[in-house]
Parts: sequence; C-alpha cells; structure tokens
Amino acid sequence: MNDQLGRPLRNLRLSVTDRCNLRCEYCMPEDDYVWLPREDVLHFEEISTLVDVFLSLGVDKVRLTGGEPLLRRDAASLVRMLAVKPGLTDLAMTTNGVLLPDQIEAIKTAGLRRLTISLDTLRRDRFLALTRFDQLDAVLEGIEAAERMYGSFKIDTVVIRGVNDDEIVDLIEFGKPRHAEVRFIEYMDVGGATRWSPARVVSRQEILERLAQRYGRIEPLLEPESTAPADRYALPDGTIFGIISSTTEPFCRTCDRSRLTADGMWYLCLYAVRGIDLRGPLRAGADAAALRTLVANGWQSRTDRGAEQRLALGDRRAFVPVQDLLRKDPHLEMHTRGG
Ligand code: SAM
Repeated sequence: MNDQLGRPLRNLRLSVTDRCNLRCEYCMPEDDYVWLPREDVLHFEEISTLVDVFLSLGVDKVRLTGGEPLLRRDAASLVRMLAVKPGLTDLAMTTNGVLLPDQIEAIKTAGLRRLTISLDTLRRDRFLALTRFDQLDAVLEGIEAAERMYGSFKIDTVVIRGVNDDEIVDLIEFGKPRHAEVRFIEYMDVGGATRWSPARVVSRQEILERLAQRYGRIEPLLEPESTAPADRYALPDGTIFGIISSTTEPFCRTCDRSRLTADGMWYLCLYAVRGIDLRGPLRAGADAAALRTLVANGWQSRTDRGAEQRLALGDRRAFVPVQDLLRKDPHLEMHTRGG
C-alpha cells in the first residue's frame, strides 16, 4: 500500500511511554512537561490489536521507542506479544540504556531482535550536563550487556556543535571493539528541541570531513534498496558507521516510517502537526476491518515531506515554540512521538 508519493507503509515506530528517565538537552530541556493522561495510554492488548492492523497493511518492521521504552512496566511482556506475530520481520528497540542491565535478559528472551542505544558522550561530566542525570556508568554497563547478549548493536549519537562534536572519533573508537555501529544524527529541529539553532547543527558533510582528517579516505556503502534513515560508510580499516542527515539532506522521498504514540495517535511524519486518532475508534469498539480502513485511508492520502519543507525555510528556528503549542499539545514533543 503506497502513499501519494509512492512510498510504502513499512516501518512502524511504537512509542510505549512518553516518560523518560533522562532530560537530554536536545529533546527534553524544559523543567516541566505536560504528560499524556494515564488512562489514555494503550494497554498491551490494545497495542497488539493495532500492530495486527498495521501488519495486515504492509508493515513488517516495528521499533519500540518512547520516551524511554524500558520505563514501561513489564516491557518484556509486550516484546513477547509482538515477537511471535507472523509477518513481522524485525522487532527492535531504541533505548537510552540506563535500565538495560536489569532488563536486557528479559527482553532478549522475549524475542527482541535488535537494539539501538543512545549515547552522546563518553565523558561523565558531559553526560550529566547533557542529560541532567549522572547515569553514564549505567549506560556503559548496558552497552556491555548488549555486546554480551546481542553480539552487535547500534549506538546513536546526536552531534551538537560546542557540546559533543569533539567526540566523534572517540565514539567510533569506542564502538570498534564492542561491535557497535555508531550512527551520527544531525541535530534536528523537532518538537521538543526548543534550544535548536542552525549554528548548533553539525552537518553530514562536516562529520565526514572531520573523520577523513583522522582516518583518511571514507567510502560510502552503496545500498540502493535501503530505506534506512542512515547512510553508511566504511573507514579504511573496514569499520562501518552511519550518518542520519535529516536536517541538511532529508530523505523524505523514501520515508516509509510512521509513528504511533503511547495513547494511540498515529503520525505520518515526525513534523506532522496533526495525527490520526486510533485509540478513540478502538475503544469505541471498531473492528479490525474498520481500523484497517482508517489506517489505509490515512496512508494513501499521505503527502508529508516535513524535513524537506523545514530545509526549504529561509529563516529556520525551533519547530514549535514551547510557550504555547508544546504546552497545549504534548503530542508535538519528540519524546511523545518517539524518535
Ligand atoms: N529514550 C530512548 C533513547 O534515548 O534512545 C528512545 C527515545 S529518543 C526520543 C529516540 C531518539 O531520538 C534518540 O536516539 C535521540 O537521540 C533522538 N533525538 C531526540 N531529539 C533529537 C533531536 N533534537 N535531534 C536528533 N535526534 C533526536
């Protein structure tokens, strides 16, 4: 099933909670937040029903995210419910890693296939300044456990000028012996990134130039079939890394991702202002066929190219001003929508 620009519905990002145990300055820099009402948060059975609908329409990859997905009580049970679904070829999770040491065994046993761990710095003082919590040791322990349990995994790093852009080589070196593919993410002006400014973005071009200075020739991997957000590259010693350049070189034309919030709002673009309410109809008793129609109509009308439209703006600032819109509608936040 394709949208108006011929893009198939394939990747579903499932935000299982809007709560987080870190306060990363590029995502949740404010002192307080408006949270989703607890009674609105979907139960696991409801999530499972909606995932079935998506699977029947072409989705084959699901990524659990948040907020911090491991804060959702008994996240492993949800993994277990989803992992056995026919048609699901990939079940992954993006986590900040803080709770991994305690939960990795349960989620691996439950059937989680792949892990991405967010790590923006290797320095303890910086981690504290960037996230407001002194949890680097827990994350490093989580990374050790990920290597032990999964063999390989991904590390996602948001690169911010003047904050951690002097650590890109250190992070690659950190990843090498741990079989972790590091992916550098350009700082995005998504909802929630209220401190964003163009000057703080380190572009893909600049990241490549800096790595070339240190390592020499960098070869892009040719993966024409890939719709993954990261473009991948190889260093002369064969080390692979990725860059997600949503800010300076968006990839809207191949975007097959959509996002379901913990309270069942479905967003067709990270920058979309409006979503499609699936919780309401689900709780009102809509059957699978009715939900399928809702989702199919939504996707077939999709024209979103949010990141490209942001790039085309002359005077680019934070997407949503916190004072008004974010306070009124937490769905605009990256931590609600799921990164
Ligand atoms: N709590 C989990 C974590 O930290 O990985 C999952 C949720 S987090 C919102 C998912 C991803 O969004 C993380 O990799 C994070 O780095 C990314 N992210 C959040 N705000 C961002 C921004 N302003 N620009 C780029 N990436 C961002």
